[in-house]
Amino acid sequence: MLKGNILTTDGWIHGSVHVENGRVTALEGHIADPSTNDAPFILPGFIDLHVHGGGGRDIMEGGDAADTVAREHAKHGTTSLLATTMTAPRDELMDVVAGLGETAKRRAANGARVLGVHLEGPYINPGKLGAQPDAAAVAVRDEVLKFLALAPIRVVTIAPEISGHLEVIAEMAARGVRVQLGHSLGTYDDAVNALKHGARGFTHLFNAMSPLHHRDPGMVGAALAHAEYAELIPDLLHVHPGAIRAAMRAIPRLYVVTDSTSAAGMPDGEYRLGSQHVTKCMGGVRLADGTLAGSTLTMDQALRNLVSLGIPLADVSNRLSRYPADYLGLEDRGRIARGAWADLVVLDRDFALTATYVEGESLVEYAQ
Ligand SMILES: [Zn+2]
Repeated sequence: MLKGNILTTDGWIHGSVHVENGRVTALEGHIADPSTNDAPFILPGFIDLHVHGGGGRDIMEGGDAADTVAREHAKHGTTSLLATTMTAPRDELMDVVAGLGETAKRRAANGARVLGVHLEGPYINPGKLGAQPDAAAVAVRDEVLKFLALAPIRVVTIAPEISGHLEVIAEMAARGVRVQLGHSLGTYDDAVNALKHGARGFTHLFNAMSPLHHRDPGMVGAALAHAEYAELIPDLLHVHPGAIRAAMRAIPRLYVVTDSTSAAGMPDGEYRLGSQHVTKCMGGVRLADGTLAGSTLTMDQALRNLVSLGIPLADVSNRLSRYPADYLGLEDRGRIARGAWADLVVLDRDFALTATYVEGESLVEYAQ
């Protein structure tokens, strides 16, 4: 049993949450504004749909790297995540995805639940690689279906302007994949067409996509005008706070991802991002030419960053947990409710993490 200010699906209560066999069995308490007491905050565990690495390991290494990554992020309150691949030659990518298919069947001790895979590329625009290696490919239906058979691929990032991609977007969407637009030089019209073909989201909104100009609104304009969901990296390096605020006003269910690399949770130094070498310094991760290459962000820090902008904690929590769960259609995660998985985080009044529960299992190691 945990006691504190509990963010339920009906708002804050002051009381207790009861857990049995990994699930929330009861909520007791009364409606109360947390500002009227000094008890800790109990929020749904964080759900990060864009994770390349952490704790010194990169998802593209294969093997047991994903277990280390899941453990590192659990220390920061992430209770479930999508292992996210980088653009890579086809056979290498197939091997990694097949391995992740096995990873997703179990949960590493003290680790976050790996819900499946976010395939970030290779179906991106070679002219908008960002920090992705130069191995962009054109999506072909048969190859895409092979990937989908290897692992639970929940999210695919794709550039819609490449010839043939609209048909592939429709095919994937019909199979329940959340198709996101990103690493793209597409126009506003390309994006709107892709949404009509079943695309649902935008990958790291603002980064590695055509920007908004008022006479040429680009990918960003299409997202602000039409998207229900989009992911955003609030490390305060990738996106200016003003742009974060603009996106929050325009996109009802804008949600938080880390896009974190193997350098997350590690000291400054040299790290790997897929096949690229990156340097962590001053909280950023960059290629040799200075291009931002993923982040070192963790979800607990993302929460503190958004709270520091004056965004109410309940709103921030929705963007870290509820909306990503809803986006994937997961009704028993991302919320504190009877019957839901007991994925919980406890924060003190300075928003420092003091406990994390993954499916009712208490994790005690903290990197504070
Ligand atoms: Zn990424």
